[in-house]
Amino acid sequence: MDLLKSSFTEIKNAVVSKKVSAQEVTQFFLSRIQTHDKKLNSYITINEKAVDEAQAIDKKISKGEELGLLAGVPFGIKDMLCTKGLKTTAGSKILSNFTPPYDSTVVERLKAAGVVVLGKTNQDEFAMGSSNETSFYGVTKNPWKTDCVPGGSSGGSASAQAARLAAGTIGTDTGGSIRQPANFCGIVGVKPTYGRVSRYGIVAYASSLDQAGPMVTTVEDAALTLEVICGQDPRDATTSSQKVPQFSKNLKQNLQGMRIGLVKEFMTDALDKETQSVVEKSVEAAKKLGAKIVEVSLPLTSQAVPMYYLIAASEASSNLARYDGVKYGHRAEFADLSRIDLDQFYAKTRGEGFGSEVQRRIMLGTYCLSAGYYDAYYNKACQVRRLLKNQYDEAFKSCDVMLSPVTTHPAFKIGDRISDPLAMYMNDIFTVSTNLAGLPGMSLPFGQASSGLPIGIQLTAGHFEEQKMLDVAYALESVSSVKGALPNV
Ligand code: GLN
Repeated sequence: MDLLKSSFTEIKNAVVSKKVSAQEVTQFFLSRIQTHDKKLNSYITINEKAVDEAQAIDKKISKGEELGLLAGVPFGIKDMLCTKGLKTTAGSKILSNFTPPYDSTVVERLKAAGVVVLGKTNQDEFAMGSSNETSFYGVTKNPWKTDCVPGGSSGGSASAQAARLAAGTIGTDTGGSIRQPANFCGIVGVKPTYGRVSRYGIVAYASSLDQAGPMVTTVEDAALTLEVICGQDPRDATTSSQKVPQFSKNLKQNLQGMRIGLVKEFMTDALDKETQSVVEKSVEAAKKLGAKIVEVSLPLTSQAVPMYYLIAASEASSNLARYDGVKYGHRAEFADLSRIDLDQFYAKTRGEGFGSEVQRRIMLGTYCLSAGYYDAYYNKACQVRRLLKNQYDEAFKSCDVMLSPVTTHPAFKIGDRISDPLAMYMNDIFTVSTNLAGLPGMSLPFGQASSGLPIGIQLTAGHFEEQKMLDVAYALESVSSVKGALPNV
């Protein structure tokens, strides 16, 4: 079988029916990493025990034991997710020596389903960024054009998946970090409804927005991964008791009766022409598949970027207070500890351990939360956030799934935006609203720019309506010219 051209659902079926061993599959991806990752830098850490883990799956198969849904599928895991015994850095120097003593729930569930962890993928530091350029471990390259960014913050997962340095990957999305890099690298990326996936053991960035999800090659692979990672977890009180459907079995390609909403505010002049044309083509395709197209309006999305950066920075400043050099992580060196006070200890440790974007967010967030400003900034942003959610609820009365661009442009060049934070934040203009409203969203590859860079579309659904969103994606994928497209690395 051609592992390079197979979805992981196909790989898993071949492993289970003994056409290929889990060990062979793992070795195939490890050797691709060895050959190509010097150029792409999509991994921070490789799991030295990956082959042993694959052998354990093969043993289970030969004994005829019961197998999980993802038996023998090798995954790359974003470095935000704790992995027992395997270094977890969150892309930061401050966690450069941190090896968790436990697995995050997502990783625990993936392993229980038979996943082999290949390693930990590169990312923007603490998931703050849209280009992977804030990683302490160096920028990741876009496999379609190596002078371009892969997007961020889950840029390592996106790059590794697009170049098939993994059969599947996991990312996290606080304001677009799964969907934007998936869009830039031409893969499928899903951010589930807030509360669908446990955040236990995931390095916290902005707790009211963070969600983990699959970054994979096909919609079916995404659906299967969701079946494994979704569901209530007693260790994360924000997870929901909503039943998890058998997403992959339910997938249907017919859009008869499906109402697709086009978000008026997202079809702006700011869209580059090729992106606009891909979105228009996807709308035409949806019509042909039987969908009814309606226009919806979300006026408050014009305030989404400022709302998001107030809320995300505030929550980050609070979450990142734990990195103090005392309990774990990087600690600054002092000639004589007895001659410095605690403030000096923190300042030097945190000044050395955090990069400049993370420091900017901590300062901004601390300011927004400080006495006298809390009501004017954080609280106000939370109030407007609620109004935005109400606008979504209203709009979902007239449509089932919304369709929009993911970003205004395809991937940009490395170095182009990193010195202008506001230009960087504009990457999130179409994605942050979904997080603010707690809704599921995804990106689906649908076309290519003349430069060869991939262009996708974004789909968004109501709370816990992932199935509808995946159905639309599955139908559109069946007519997409770039399904499973592979860059020439
Ligand atoms: N680019 C956004 C930020 O920097 C989104 C990041 C994310 O979703 N983790 O905060």
